[in-house]
Amino acid sequence: MSKIIKVKARQVFDSRGNPTIEAEVFTKNNSALAICPSGASTGTYEAFEKRDKNNKRYLGKSVLNAVNLINTKISKKLKGQNVHDQERIDTLLINLDGTRQKIRLGANSILAVSMAVKKLSASVKKLPLFKTFLVKNNFKLPYPLMNIINGGAHANNGLRIQEFMIRPDRAKNFSDAMRICYVVIKNLSKIIKNKGLSTSVGDEGGFAPMISSNNQALDLIVSAIKKSGFVNGRDVSICLDVAANELYKKGKYSIHSKSFISVEKSIKEFNKIITKYKIKSIEDPFAENDWISWNKLMKNTSKVQIVGDDLYVTNLERLKKGFLNISSNAILIKLNQIGTVSETLEVIKFAQIIGFKTIISHRSGDSEDTFIADLAVGTNSDQIKTGSLARSERVAKYNQLLRIEEGLGKKARMNKIH
Ligand code: PGA
Ligand code: ZN
Repeated sequence: MSKIIKVKARQVFDSRGNPTIEAEVFTKNNSALAICPSGASTGTYEAFEKRDKNNKRYLGKSVLNAVNLINTKISKKLKGQNVHDQERIDTLLINLDGTRQKIRLGANSILAVSMAVKKLSASVKKLPLFKTFLVKNNFKLPYPLMNIINGGAHANNGLRIQEFMIRPDRAKNFSDAMRICYVVIKNLSKIIKNKGLSTSVGDEGGFAPMISSNNQALDLIVSAIKKSGFVNGRDVSICLDVAANELYKKGKYSIHSKSFISVEKSIKEFNKIITKYKIKSIEDPFAENDWISWNKLMKNTSKVQIVGDDLYVTNLERLKKGFLNISSNAILIKLNQIGTVSETLEVIKFAQIIGFKTIISHRSGDSEDTFIADLAVGTNSDQIKTGSLARSERVAKYNQLLRIEEGLGKKARMNKIH
């Protein structure tokens, strides 16, 4: 047993420059830090992010009240608790808040503390963080889903689809996966430059050229894959995050162009691009309450990974509903959508039991914290989505995975993609 003596928090800044929470948990001889991330295209059912709406000094974005709650109420509650008893600590935090969406304390305060407790427990046990989750041996590295062209709420170029990603499906190991993505990204940069477009990047490190048609973005990526000597759909696959919540109005969607069309027509358009561009994965193809359309898409596509992000918000009840409704075959996992490490692990466990792929994800507002890299390996998650090879808050996660792979040595394996 190793007792927590104190929890301390401070306001720091995320990758978009917005205030966020860093929590620090102490035992007698050790301490650990964790930083909470923050989304832009958030789902309605996500746990609550507490900000000081009335504090004009930070334009309503500061987290000073949440920080204060950690330094007082939370610190008092956790004092004397065994740092290795994560479930008990998370339950104490959930009960101290007492609301469904963690409205009183804020999921941002709760999560920063929950993650810091997990890190501290690993450090006290002198174990690498990834060895303290669900998997005890035969660790597998996830395939990276690199978001190389940014649109939607993450850029201001007018692209309808939020994320255009690549996945190096034939990579032999994680460092090979990184090399493949690196080469494609550098070639994409040259292609974009040669077209006289800007190679500046969006919130997740992907290029954000001033183009507005999805097909134009897809054509650029296909050219980059080809120029790199790889075969699209075999060596490297294109994956999308539509983030369709943002493109929905009165039963219609404006995913494929600015005009709103019916679900049936949207599905037809999805199938066209799936065939033409050999797309292997589509996240949030429809809005968070449109369960029927998700099911229609599942019935009308084959061999495509359909991923629920805003649909599930890492929430067990919503995942169960999606499973019964046959809404998708994969789930995106974001710790701050639900608010504690234990609840996140419950969702991952359930998803894996029902045969869903699990994809661990960053948020568009993120930090130097690399917790999710360890979480991906420690839960045997199939994939990780953590931006492009640009912006250190994104690259930090990939670098941590390289360290983990090196540490595992010959025992390191890649997860299965097919
Ligand atoms: P968010 O974007 O962090 O802005 O929600 C990531 C995603 O939608 O997957
Ligand atoms: Zn998403």
